[in-house]
Amino acid sequence: MGDRILKRTLLVVFLLALAGQPVVAAADLRILACEPEWSALAEEIGGKQVKVSSATNALQDPHYIEARPSLISRVRKADLLICSGAQLETGWLPMLMRKANNPDILPGTNGFLEASSYVRRLDVPDSVDRSQGDLHPQGNPHVQMNPHNIALIAAELGRRMALLDPANADFYQEQTRDFLSRWGDAIEAWEKRARSLSGSRVVCHHKSWIYLEDWLGLVEVATLEPVPGIPPSTKHLSALLAELGADGSGAEMIIRAPFQGDKASLWLESRTGIPAVMLPLTVGGSDAAKDLFSLFDDILDRLLQTLEIAQS
Ligand SMILES: [Zn+2]
Repeated sequence: MGDRILKRTLLVVFLLALAGQPVVAAADLRILACEPEWSALAEEIGGKQVKVSSATNALQDPHYIEARPSLISRVRKADLLICSGAQLETGWLPMLMRKANNPDILPGTNGFLEASSYVRRLDVPDSVDRSQGDLHPQGNPHVQMNPHNIALIAAELGRRMALLDPANADFYQEQTRDFLSRWGDAIEAWEKRARSLSGSRVVCHHKSWIYLEDWLGLVEVATLEPVPGIPPSTKHLSALLAELGADGSGAEMIIRAPFQGDKASLWLESRTGIPAVMLPLTVGGSDAAKDLFSLFDDILDRLLQTLEIAQS
C-alpha cells in the first residue's frame, strides 16, 4: 500500500518536474546564417532561446562555397535564414533552398532576412554600368563592414525573432535593446580610435571593404582584382605598380581578406613599399576576432599598426 502511494507520489513529482521544464525549450528558434557575422549577431540577440549555425566560415569566400548535402538539411530545419543577400550567395543558396523545400524561409516570409536590404547599399550599378562585373550586380553585398549597418540589421533581426517566436517576444526585445546600447558605446569608442585613419589611401584585393572605407573615411585608390571576381592578372598588377610608383607614396596600405591569398598583395608590397595587411572580414577571420566586438577591435588594431608602418 505504502509502496503504491510512494510510486504515485514519485510519478506526480516526475510529471511536475516535466511540467517545470522550461516550455520554451521546444520553441527554440533554429537560425541558419549564411555568413558568420550574422550567426554572431543572432547569438547576441537570441541568447539562450536560439540555436544558431553558419553555412560558411570566415576562411571561405562567401561568393563561392560548395553546397554540401549537410547544408540542405540545415536549410530544411531552419526557422529563420539570415544572409547578406544582394546576390552574394547566388552561386549556392538558391540551389540549397530549392532542395530543402522549406516554405518558412522563402524570400518574402518573416523567416528570410536579407541583411543588405536594411542598409544603404553602396556601388549599386545602373542598368548599363558593367564596371562592377557580374559578381555585385545589385550593389556591394559586403555590408557587415560598417558597424552602423550591423545596428540596423540587429533591430530587424530582433523584430523577426519576436514575430517568429511570440512567446519570447519580450526577451528578444530586451536583448536587442541591450545589444544596441553596448554596440552604440563600442561604435563611439571605435570612431574615436580611428580618427587618424581618415583619408588613408588603400588598395584592396576585392571590393570587400567599401562599407569600412565609407565608415572610416578611407580612400580606395585601386583593387588588385581588375573587376570584382576576376583574379589579379600580371598585366593589371604591372599597371598598378606603374600607377602607385616604387617609393611607397602611392597609398598607405594594401588590404586583403584571409581567403583571398597573399600572393598579389605581397608582390605589390615588395615592389611599391606599401605595407600589406590581412583584415578579418567576419567573426573568426583572425584569432582575435572572436565575436562582433572583437572583430572591429582587431580590424582597427591592424589598420592602425599598418598606418604606423606606412608612416615610419
Ligand atoms: Zn564581393
